[in-house]
Amino acid sequence: MEKPLPPGLHIVATPIGNLGDLAPRAAQTLLNADRILVEDTRVTAKLLAHIGAKVPMTRYDDHSSDADRERIVGQLGDKAVALVSDAGTPMISDPGFKLVRAARAAGHQVHTVPGPSAAIAALTLAGLPTDRFLFLGFLPAKAKARADAIAEVAGVRATLVLYESGPRLGDTLAALTDRLGSRRAAVAREISKLHEECVTGTLADLAERYAGAVPKGEIVVVVGPPADAAQAGDDELDAALDEALARLSPSRAAAEVAERLKVPRKRAYARALERAR
Ligand code: SAM
Repeated sequence: MEKPLPPGLHIVATPIGNLGDLAPRAAQTLLNADRILVEDTRVTAKLLAHIGAKVPMTRYDDHSSDADRERIVGQLGDKAVALVSDAGTPMISDPGFKLVRAARAAGHQVHTVPGPSAAIAALTLAGLPTDRFLFLGFLPAKAKARADAIAEVAGVRATLVLYESGPRLGDTLAALTDRLGSRRAAVAREISKLHEECVTGTLADLAERYAGAVPKGEIVVVVGPPADAAQAGDDELDAALDEALARLSPSRAAAEVAERLKVPRKRAYARALERAR
């Protein structure tokens, strides 16, 4: 027999399109929860029917009132309350953080059942560097705000991951091309579903392909880091080395930081020796 769930808040990731991706522990948590907080009862009802769970649901999102949140937090001392999104991992462009913060502040346990997330799944499909990535969620809908948001991250030496909808994909790819040049990129669509596809190319190729087209389904755009990124400055290098030197010898710290910041190992080592003095 399964052990009863401990009281507290249980964050449960759910499939992003393929019910077969529901993890066994996620299913057990949902089956044994006293209550499940959901974005949309109709969406989660399908998931619960799939596993034969009959658990009361309550709508919750970050716009729920403080009073609603307090009521939920008040139950966490002796009830196991699960939080799910319509799909994927709660809090990744989805509600939940205010509730986690409130639960912790009240001294309750917060548990997580990790699982699918479209951002991570898209990174696994794109064939772009994954050692450093920056998740941008959804870019603003208005052209000026979107361009500003892209400009803000243009210098970041990391792969960018963003969520997008079919109707806005063409404009977003055009805006990304304008500001980021022709970096390598990928459009991952309908991940884990029947029509999953991942189209790769330069941003300019993809902008051309999707100009005026409205692809169906759910989309993640992944943009590779700038190829000719300027090397890290001394301040950034020093900060990274100081952190690594607290754990490692100068040569190992230099090797780790050189790899991560893409700077020559010789430069990192010389600096590491100075910092370690
Ligand atoms: N919390 C979810 C997660 O962990 O992935 C994301 C929620 S966000 C409101 C929904 C967006 O995620 C969609 O608009 C789309 O950009 C992306 N997405 C979700 N499922 C997807 C899938 N199966 N394929 C591609 N993108 C997906």
